[in-house]
Amino acid sequence: MKKELKIESYYTCYETIEDAPEEYKNLIAEAKQAVKGSYAPYSNFNVGAALLLNNGKIIHGSNQENASYPIGFCAERTALSAAASIAPSEKIKSITITCSCAHHPVTTPGAPCGICRQTILEAETKHQQNIEVILTGETGAIYIFKTIKDLLPLYFDGRLL
Ligand SMILES: [Zn+2]
Repeated sequence: MKKELKIESYYTCYETIEDAPEEYKNLIAEAKQAVKGSYAPYSNFNVGAALLLNNGKIIHGSNQENASYPIGFCAERTALSAAASIAPSEKIKSITITCSCAHHPVTTPGAPCGICRQTILEAETKHQQNIEVILTGETGAIYIFKTIKDLLPLYFDGRLL
């Protein structure tokens, strides 16, 4: 028997940063600060991520490219690796991701790549706590997901083995 099924994801959208609550404005400002650490001479696409830990601390990450493309790192994973090294037992409340490009303004939210989605899921699994995912571009809308599972609906968390 064949079935056609669908997967639904839920998220909140604020049309502009002015519409967003203060807490998100602050997190986006942190992510924009993180963009300044980006090293992206090949793509000219700069990404910043700001993790908010349960203890209130913020950890920044930014993309770090390499002439050998596959060994570059995304902003999300540099932030998550920093958190795992600096505060391995501290749970992560949210990750805010933003981006900019030298070639054109980014007016829509950037979204994490598949590897980063899986890595954020791993952090959720490790700490047994959902991580809110906040996405924005340089300007425009802000998307807020309560868990990475909304961006990775057919997820693999290792517990299926
Ligand atoms: Zn990535």
